[in-house]
Amino acid sequence: MRQLLATTAQRAAAYLEGLEQRLVRPETEAVAALAAFDDPLPFGPTPPEAVLAMLDEIGSPATMAMAGPRFFGFVTGGSLPAALAANWLAGAWDQNSSFYHVAPATARLEQVALRWLLDLFGLPETCSGAFVTGATMANFTALAAARHAVLAQAGWNVEADGLFGAPPITVVVSQEVHPTLVKSLGLLGLGRSRLLRVPVDGQGRMRADALPKLTGPAIVCVQAGNVNTGAFDPTGAICQQAHADGAWVHVDGAFGLWAAGAPSLSHLADGIQQADSWATDAHKWLNVPYDSGLALVRDAMALPAAMAVTAEYLPSDSARRNPADYTPELSRRGRGVEVWAALRELGRLGLAEMIERCCRHARRFAAGLSAAGYAVLNDVVLNQVLVSFGDAETTRRVIDGIQMDGTCWCGSTVWQGHTAMRISVSSWATSEEDVERSLAAILRIAGSMTPRNP
Ligand SMILES: *Cc1c(COP(=O)(O)O)cnc(C)c1O
Repeated sequence: MRQLLATTAQRAAAYLEGLEQRLVRPETEAVAALAAFDDPLPFGPTPPEAVLAMLDEIGSPATMAMAGPRFFGFVTGGSLPAALAANWLAGAWDQNSSFYHVAPATARLEQVALRWLLDLFGLPETCSGAFVTGATMANFTALAAARHAVLAQAGWNVEADGLFGAPPITVVVSQEVHPTLVKSLGLLGLGRSRLLRVPVDGQGRMRADALPKLTGPAIVCVQAGNVNTGAFDPTGAICQQAHADGAWVHVDGAFGLWAAGAPSLSHLADGIQQADSWATDAHKWLNVPYDSGLALVRDAMALPAAMAVTAEYLPSDSARRNPADYTPELSRRGRGVEVWAALRELGRLGLAEMIERCCRHARRFAAGLSAAGYAVLNDVVLNQVLVSFGDAETTRRVIDGIQMDGTCWCGSTVWQGHTAMRISVSSWATSEEDVERSLAAILRIAGSMTPRNP
């Protein structure tokens, strides 16, 4: 075992060091070579060293360099050193982190990480929380608590009696709602198509003045950090109106919530503290390995009411938080361990510095692209940049060219009718040099493809 783990550490280190030399995208031949995995189920055993060798030799070259400093697709942080190492050690622990008394170390670390995060986001320390796989599940988990609470208020026990015959819940989202939040609502029986969609402004922010008057059980879902523009819904104004109507306000802050932890950006998150529940990702901007998200709920009893296995949930001794009382899963890995490690490594200061640095890099991208005559389509308030290289066809060709070139990787989107390239800077590893190198590659490729290079 010792020898195997040592060799694996060598392989992993070599992989990470190799990211500097290789293309960000995997080579076409490496992807084709994945066919070598397509064996029939082996009849007999394979020595563990040989299993790892095969994984590294065939698998590693066919990966996208998401752990590296020049992957700007989606919103994808890398893995901080302590977070990756904690992931390995916690893997060795192999704790089923459902109950405190059987897995005290991971349960306690999650409890501490939760307390730190509530402090960081400026939320009451009495909130409850759940460590789940990502923002999709975090939205699902927090909205299950919302569903419980708004129906309980109407005299209905949704956990016991389900939704058949329940008072209808009005669910409000914006036209720019993240598609996974709509999926979460569908999983909860709240429907993907019966949502009220509030119009947005030019940055994708929900228009508070267009929020309808709400009656009966109601949930309003706002967004902290639009996945294209990085813009924040005016959560304070929406909370005021929605709360006056007795509605629950949920914040999807998959990456934007982290702005609350950076002094120069926290104004963007003004008002989120008034909401009733929040979802965020740790595998995005906190830079822990996949998969890791977090649901937070102000009404500390609503979350266990929705998630605890026993219907007769009683508050346990708060010093002994059972993770499984808050999560959809019973058996689960203690993924909060990596969240703890990342926060311990960075501290409040290091986290703020990392968030602010990513935003500075985004502004540099925007300035460089604008100076070259390309249209930046969003106000670069956070870590997201949307750029057009001309018409849709040209923009798509430039994006393909950039992805093939492999110096960096950026994805595409359609923003309010305009085809655009998305640059999302969310890794601790991205340096100024990486930004300059990537910008130079983007401008070189765009210049070779756009009709008139300004
Ligand atoms: C990424 C994202 C999600 C989905 O998160 P996953 O971690 O991929 O499940 C939801 N909402 C927003 C705003 C996001 O950026």
